[in-house]
Amino acid sequence: MTPVESNRATAQPHITVMVPAYNEEKNIANTLHNIRGVLQQMSPYWDMVVVDDGSRDQTAQVVQSLVTDYQVTLVRFSRNFGKENAISAGLGYAKGDLVICMDADGQHASELMVTMLEKWREGYDMVYAVRQDREQESSFKLWGSRLFYRMMSASTHVDIPRDAGDFRLMNRAVVDALCALPERNRFMKGIYAWVGYKSIGIPYTPLPRLHGESAYSKLKLIALAWTGITSFSVLPLRLASLTGATLALLAFFYGTIVVIDALFFHESVPGWPTVVASMMFFAGVQLLFIGVLGEYLARVYDEVKGRPPYIVAEVIAPTTVRRQS
Ligand code: UDP
Ligand code: MG
Repeated sequence: MTPVESNRATAQPHITVMVPAYNEEKNIANTLHNIRGVLQQMSPYWDMVVVDDGSRDQTAQVVQSLVTDYQVTLVRFSRNFGKENAISAGLGYAKGDLVICMDADGQHASELMVTMLEKWREGYDMVYAVRQDREQESSFKLWGSRLFYRMMSASTHVDIPRDAGDFRLMNRAVVDALCALPERNRFMKGIYAWVGYKSIGIPYTPLPRLHGESAYSKLKLIALAWTGITSFSVLPLRLASLTGATLALLAFFYGTIVVIDALFFHESVPGWPTVVASMMFFAGVQLLFIGVLGEYLARVYDEVKGRPPYIVAEVIAPTTVRRQS
């Protein structure tokens, strides 16, 4: 155990704040400024990592100009690889005893980091912020997230905390465990929960975005949820088997009735519309579940190809490691 870990109550841990940023030129300077303000009160030892996830605007340039003042290591992706990958990469570059992950758009209040640090001092290894504002969200997001969590809890033994996102503090042990996971489909919500460790949630209400719009459209959210479900559970495959078995059983009974009717009561089987309708129905069900199989195959394919989940084009680090106070 490191000296910092064995003496949590009084230790002054090195804190690294890690921020994934995609097209955040208008927000990032403000966000880093707020973070620095709070960090300075928390510990004399801190730095930041910003992962520029292939922004098309001036995000990287803005961050680059702040590298020394804010002790920022700028990690630039060669293109947009998505937030999950940006976070994975950022964790690898974060060297602190504690790592805090925050959004670049100012929605995560920096002050909450103080509470997170207190919880770590109390003995928790991971402290995640839990959103409290779900009621005000659109019914699409509200019901979508409910359905998602229900499916997840029904299908995995990993207990994924509700409404907890990437805004969280992790100690070195958790970060190392996350970095050691080899998978390429990185569904972070699931992975955080999967690694375990003593964790606790603290409530927060996200602030409004400073500028711009969320990068997550409805379609992207559905895609993310689907990745989450298929990379973390085999529920869709089980559903396929179950539906297949049920339909086969029903078809068997119906077939028996038809045969008995024809043999003993000499009733001709009525009408082709029934045949056509049922054929189309069953063909539909089959195609649907072939699609589900395909999804899993695609995941396996992705993993087997062995491509890296992201490409780092450039890393710019502060040259002078200053100890701030
Ligand atoms: N983000 C990213 N890559 C992406 C999309 C988003 O790194 O492809 C970052 C974004 O800059 C922000 C965070 O992830 O810091 C959350 O994104 P956003 O605000 O768009 O999502 P929401 O707050 O709606 O979940
Ligand atoms: Mg946001």
